[in-house]
Amino acid sequence: MPAFFLTDDKASQEEFLACIRDTAKAIAESCAQPAPDSGAGGQAFFPAYCGPEPAELRAQLAAIPVFPAEGKGFQAVLENIRTHVLPNLVRTASPGYLAHLHSPVLLESVAAELVIAAFNPSMDSWDQSPAATEIEVLVIRELCRLFGFGGTADGVFTSGGSQSNLTGILLARDAFCTQKLKFDVKKHGLPENSARFRMYASEVSHFSMEKSAHLLGLGYGAVRKVPADGRRKMDAGALRRMIREDLAQGNLPFCVAATAGTTDYGSIDPLDDVAEICAEYGLWMHTDAAYGSGLILSGAYRNRLRGIERADSVTVDFHKMFLQPISCSAVLLRDGSQFSPLELHADYLNREEDEEDGYINLVGKSMQTTRRFDALKVWASFQVRGKDGWDAILASCVENAAYVYERLQAAPDSFETIAPPEISSVVFRVRPKPGSVCSGEADTDRMNKSIRRTLLHKKGIITGQTTDNGRVFLKFTLLNPAITRNDLDRLLACILALRDGWQP
Ligand SMILES: *Cc1c(COP(=O)(O)O)cnc(C)c1O
Repeated sequence: MPAFFLTDDKASQEEFLACIRDTAKAIAESCAQPAPDSGAGGQAFFPAYCGPEPAELRAQLAAIPVFPAEGKGFQAVLENIRTHVLPNLVRTASPGYLAHLHSPVLLESVAAELVIAAFNPSMDSWDQSPAATEIEVLVIRELCRLFGFGGTADGVFTSGGSQSNLTGILLARDAFCTQKLKFDVKKHGLPENSARFRMYASEVSHFSMEKSAHLLGLGYGAVRKVPADGRRKMDAGALRRMIREDLAQGNLPFCVAATAGTTDYGSIDPLDDVAEICAEYGLWMHTDAAYGSGLILSGAYRNRLRGIERADSVTVDFHKMFLQPISCSAVLLRDGSQFSPLELHADYLNREEDEEDGYINLVGKSMQTTRRFDALKVWASFQVRGKDGWDAILASCVENAAYVYERLQAAPDSFETIAPPEISSVVFRVRPKPGSVCSGEADTDRMNKSIRRTLLHKKGIITGQTTDNGRVFLKFTLLNPAITRNDLDRLLACILALRDGWQP
């Protein structure tokens, strides 16, 4: 019978070490798999994926009984992981992994995950997480400083940008009800006129805006989509007009959710203009910086977030530009006292008498109860890399995107682009080979889709795909600071080679 837990018992400690050592070895060795031909000349890429297509993978995994009658022991399961799981996961650290805001993970943060898993602290109350609670408080304080917030700011780690957005919009709704309507949502639920509540987000904002409106009982109809300009940034003039229109119709604007780094384009809404408008109409300013928050670590590019310090709430995702394992995110408030709607005391958990004596129970700022010690990963990687290390990481990603854009612009016969990147994503459409039989936009759509599928299954390269004005575009999301210009040249060459060989 294998040991259950890691304890003060020497045998359990040895078993723990063996289990971790064998697992770590299997993981490291799995990254040495041979790569499929990159087709772009020179040395093959460290591939992002070389597993089978969906049906084959499904059949392979379905052959393993999930819950056998008799336990097989750890080594047998590790063998299954080695054979069937590890080879069939994507390598986020591959230079050919470019599809999503899904980052490679820093080594120190993987080590921190081991500490988190081994001790399993839970952030709801101090007596479940003494050092963990104190570290989260310190990391949050440092983040508030980085974002230019004053001494009354506060924040909390969350499960992701979606939950951070939901938290920000929930607090906006509750502050509006309390302050403007003198109505306590916490006690009474939504007021009768809640169908008139309106929030504003750009037409290219994240879908968690609508999801939040639904979850908060306001419905999708409460989210007014503000047009974006040619650079996919919110049109501030249109925002002002829409607020006026709503006020004239008797609707109740309560929040503007600006985006600092849209999911597709990385475009940043005009934060200062939005802050001005929010101040003028007394609206809560939420800033969804799930993607763009990383820029705050860059000396050269942090000014692109100018105005973010005027937001009432900010979403920061660490499992994107901050290169942390999932999950790792936070929501920050310029005025920490605005967390009060989330506070609720339970005799079995967060007694007020303890808090009066200096025990911090972070559950009072969170939607979650049991919660992970994700702050450790940020704490570790901030110290390992330092401000200079992080500055270089961010510069590399931003400058790689600028380089790709420049290369695409230099080949207008081969590529169509949309806007110069503000962060690290580049959206582009491959044009048919000059003189080819491929004619019309629908054929070009099919060609772009086909290039993406071929890259995935034949080249071990995973690019993004989206649509813009109804047409199919490909996307590079550059979160890996180790990608070189040479890698980028090879990726583009590989795409052009597939384009040249494509038959409608
Ligand atoms: C990724 C993203 C989110 C959602 O964050 P999750 O961590 O995936 O929940 C929200 N907004 C924007 C702009 C994003 O890019």
